[in-house]
Amino acid sequence: MNVLLVYAHPEPRSLNGSLKDFSIRRLEAAGHAVQVSDLYAMDWKASLDVHDSLDHEDGVRFDPSLASRHAFERGTQTGDITREQEKLRWADTLILQFPLWWFSMPAILKGWVERVYAYGFAYGVGEHSDARWGDRYGEGSLAGKRAMLIVTTGGWESHYGPRGINGPMEDLLFPIHHGILYYPGFDVLPPFVIHRTGRIDAARYARIEDELGQRLDTLATTAPIAFRPQNAGDYAIPELTLRDDIAPGRSGFAVHVA
Ligand code: FAD
Repeated sequence: MNVLLVYAHPEPRSLNGSLKDFSIRRLEAAGHAVQVSDLYAMDWKASLDVHDSLDHEDGVRFDPSLASRHAFERGTQTGDITREQEKLRWADTLILQFPLWWFSMPAILKGWVERVYAYGFAYGVGEHSDARWGDRYGEGSLAGKRAMLIVTTGGWESHYGPRGINGPMEDLLFPIHHGILYYPGFDVLPPFVIHRTGRIDAARYARIEDELGQRLDTLATTAPIAFRPQNAGDYAIPELTLRDDIAPGRSGFAVHVA
């Protein structure tokens, strides 16, 4: 299997750095090919802007979606964007690894998504009709690939529990799981989350490596989160609301999981 690990932590000697090195060793020992996009080490440009299109003309109004579409179609994207898209095409499995910063991914990783997920590559694909609303949410250019998050948090597990003050972790991660990964077609595996990182001694670290190792060993067989595909009948088109007879009376993120 080809695995792309996109990693966002500024310090190689961090917990995240240790776990990234562990993951590479474990995956390679199992015979997988691994590519790593170490965003801080690459000095990854986080902001999407006019410089992402090599043929942008000075003075012309910048339309982010249109510019992305033209650059993707015409082959005038910057080399850093094209290289990451090639890695995504190559990968069977994508792992995004990051510390939870302000309840989401670090800005540098969000910027990787914004710039690499070009119009025509990750969105704006497929037919729009009475029966379909494009190839997305379960379909799309990255369909058939798997994805998983590895996330570390300062907060305790209970802080992210069903009634925890931070909100349930599955809700906080929903925009990444459903919006960033399921939308362009990935099958999304349950995340590997390490809580309370301020309390890690050698014994706990060893347990974390064991648990993470098991998740890496079972990347190909772990059941994905059962998000509902968009074009298979669960949603009315073009409203894109869940049919009234599915999860009646319920709303919120959880209704999009079968
Ligand atoms: P480190 O600080 O590098 O390490 C954590 C612990 O692991 C340390 O005790 C260290 O000694 C130990 N350790 C590291 N490597 C090893 C090793 N090889 N063997 C044994 N022990 C080791 N938290 C939240 O819960 N929610 C938030 O919204 C949130 N927002 C944040 C925003 C910002 C800007 C910042 C800076 C932090 C935020 N945090 C938040 C906390 C953050 O999630 C944690 O600091 C982070 O997840 C810890 O990961 P790390 O890799 O930086 O750990």
